[in-house]
Amino acid sequence: MTRSETLFARAQETIPGGVNSPVRAFKAVGGTPRFISKADGPYIWDADGNRYIDYIQSWGPMVLGHNNDAIRNAVCEAAQNGLSFGAPTEAEVIMAETVKSLVPSMEMVRMVNSGTEATMSAIRLARGYTCKNKILKFEGCYHGHADALLVKAGSGALTLGVPSSPGVPDDYAKHTLTVEFNNIESVKAAFAEHGEDIACIIVEPVAGNMNCIPPVEGFLEGLRTLCDEYGAVLIFDEVMTGFRVAQGGAQQKYGVMPDLTCLGKVIGGGMPVGAFGGKKAILTHIAPTGPVYQAGTLSGNPVAMAAGLAALEQLKDPTLYDSIFENTQVLAEGIRDLAHRSGIDMSINVAGSMFGLFFTDVNRVTNYQQAINCNTEQFNRFYHGMLAQGVYLAPASYEAGFVSKAHTAEIVKDTLAAAEKVFSTM
Ligand code: PMP
Repeated sequence: MTRSETLFARAQETIPGGVNSPVRAFKAVGGTPRFISKADGPYIWDADGNRYIDYIQSWGPMVLGHNNDAIRNAVCEAAQNGLSFGAPTEAEVIMAETVKSLVPSMEMVRMVNSGTEATMSAIRLARGYTCKNKILKFEGCYHGHADALLVKAGSGALTLGVPSSPGVPDDYAKHTLTVEFNNIESVKAAFAEHGEDIACIIVEPVAGNMNCIPPVEGFLEGLRTLCDEYGAVLIFDEVMTGFRVAQGGAQQKYGVMPDLTCLGKVIGGGMPVGAFGGKKAILTHIAPTGPVYQAGTLSGNPVAMAAGLAALEQLKDPTLYDSIFENTQVLAEGIRDLAHRSGIDMSINVAGSMFGLFFTDVNRVTNYQQAINCNTEQFNRFYHGMLAQGVYLAPASYEAGFVSKAHTAEIVKDTLAAAEKVFSTM
């Protein structure tokens, strides 16, 4: 037995499924999850000492690569002064000012501890601000595990939502409308029927939880127009795309400004951090300035702020992204071309440093149905082949891949060499 196998067996005795977040369990691809002992730059090592090129990057946060010197040093330094005060600190002020300076639509910022908290709080704020009940989300978009967001579309196009998890009462789900991503007509229809009671639209401006699906032209613009028309709040969930698809996130890349933005992942430099913010006129409705309640014992934690600030400080250099984006493009195109050379259907999507590989003959994947119709059996074979070659991809075909600054052209070349070997066996 490998050490990962031993640990996985032991973990399952005391941790449900052996993991603290479901996708880590390798359920989609089968096999034993690798228990990780350390990470550095583009690499992670498992408990058996195997090294992998890592394209999960802790599911997005590590845009500078693992074990970044400045982040590690900032954390060690901050920890010398105590771990948590439950009182305001200068670091939180600098964090809010930094976020405001980098993300175009954010005038005020409130820190939280995860992406889930950010979206949950932003939705409460949107509802409190508009005095409306319904929220509109998109099929295949994930916004964390708050009750109102664990909802799938009902059977008809415009039926009210149904819970996608036991434990979510129908009464919560009925206020969540779910329509098709990249289909502005479906959004218009939902507004035509329920517009008077829709508090907000929440959207991943680049969907990263059904593989990687960028917005089609006019989609985000259309959402902005509808929200303006009906007095609904437009929320961009940039937990994944923030500081990743562009320095200022998807809103900067696509030039569409939301009213509220949710952040997570990169903003914490690897520590448990999230944030939401946006227009001052809306943010002042949050307690203590306004009536909408939101709070957190560890929110704005000094060690977490030190990590996040050390990350953002480096990301202030916009040219830093050039090579990351170029390497992402070369990687994704390279894998696709190798697949084609082996007679395997594949199409790719790239948005900044996010990429998606689709085992499909659809030329350009733009929605959830196309994404879930991909060949998962082929993906699983590719996945395990790459793992055996020392490349660590997300263990499910519905996840985006991430490239960091540490993934140099050389690392991309090594990855393509591995992919070539794997395709030759498929
Ligand atoms: N929103 C998006 C777009 C996400 O990708 C995620 C997590 N993958 C979340 C929200 C939830 O963040 P967290 O896991 O930190 O709660």
